[in-house]
Amino acid sequence: MIGIETILTNQVISALTASAFYLATYLSFVRLLRHPRNWNPPTLPSALVTVGFAIITVAHISFSSQGFDLPAFVLSAGFIAGLFRIIAAPAIVFKPGAPRPIVEFLAKHGEYAGLWMVLPAIVVGYALPDAKLYGLLVTATAIELAWFLRHRGMGQRRSYPLVGRDLLVLKTQAKGDIEGFAKRHGIRELELSPDGSVNWLGCNKDTHPCPFNLYLNRLGLNTAPCCREHMKELSNFVIACLQDMGAEHWLDGGSLLGAVRENGALLAWEDDVDISVLLDGETTWESLTATISKRGAQEGYYVDVFETKRCFAISYDPPKTWPFHWERNRMRGEIRLDLVTFRHAMSGAQSVLERQNLKGAMPVMESGWHGVPKEIILPTSTINFLGDDISCPNQPDAFLRILYGDFEKIELTYVDADAARARAEIDTVDDMLVR
Ligand SMILES: [Zn+2]
Repeated sequence: MIGIETILTNQVISALTASAFYLATYLSFVRLLRHPRNWNPPTLPSALVTVGFAIITVAHISFSSQGFDLPAFVLSAGFIAGLFRIIAAPAIVFKPGAPRPIVEFLAKHGEYAGLWMVLPAIVVGYALPDAKLYGLLVTATAIELAWFLRHRGMGQRRSYPLVGRDLLVLKTQAKGDIEGFAKRHGIRELELSPDGSVNWLGCNKDTHPCPFNLYLNRLGLNTAPCCREHMKELSNFVIACLQDMGAEHWLDGGSLLGAVRENGALLAWEDDVDISVLLDGETTWESLTATISKRGAQEGYYVDVFETKRCFAISYDPPKTWPFHWERNRMRGEIRLDLVTFRHAMSGAQSVLERQNLKGAMPVMESGWHGVPKEIILPTSTINFLGDDISCPNQPDAFLRILYGDFEKIELTYVDADAARARAEIDTVDDMLVR
């Protein structure tokens, strides 16, 4: 005869097993979110790992010695699907595009939206008293609570006065009612003084970064002064690493566009820094990965390596302890530098430098990668960027024309159509009027 203690022990083991399976599913899922965060679909292996863990978790809960338990299956699968939709929302809205009200709403409340699942958890637990289901619900709730509490204890924000064009753009987008605008869109960084001055409570390494995708792409605001400052620190860090390695590198994409068109400044709505590096001679993918990862860990920058795409997303937020550093993919914002590798190749009879992923309108080369004639980039020249002389392509204008066509014309790439229209007029106003 089986004693009551044995039954209890078995139940505890079952609950703990369900808990461990859920934890593995959760961690693999937040790790996978780095792909949508970088505007890419998840890779097949990463998707398979998460789906695999989810199936094991649900199967463990749904099968008992009595066979398949349909209610346990429906409740556990439904609970995980609902919670993961909330967890994924901030990463999904990273990619600009048509408005997605539900995902955007979930992303906006991402710091505590996971706790909304506590009520369903209680209902589910009450409807179906089952040790394994409890294991799942308690673990998921504890993780969401920990995520919420970590936000509560984050660092102090420093106040930056919003002036000049930044303020003008904000006033235009808010149609004069900054307070109502901030409330409507949940812009917690805005601080209005009684004397009419407007401040921005800036992000730093101890806080979450300002949520770019919402502020820049959806609302059409300028990049916050704190984030601009951190982008500079971040690019200084990466350039120092590349210089120390003796790696051939250059300012690319929107950052080069800012340097050329805005006389060394960032584009007003810049959301990342673009630097490219040539794999050549002693600079191999392996040596680059080793150096950037090691120095990122030492100097407090998060380095995400995209092995198959041969590129890096290097972020301003500091690396956290494994395995919870993947939870950073739940943050709404990110101050990021995209470091993309190029290689030498021949396309037809022409010597070219090419990269794997498309950038702007860069043409397709014989290999299927995207590239430009070698002499447009090499030997690199220098250009002023944020007050320093930085390596840039040999013919920056020709390079930008390949990428963006008529680059002198201001185009609010990725900015929501209505928000872009609203600020189009002030973007053409002479700087002198604003200062
Ligand atoms: Zn910021």
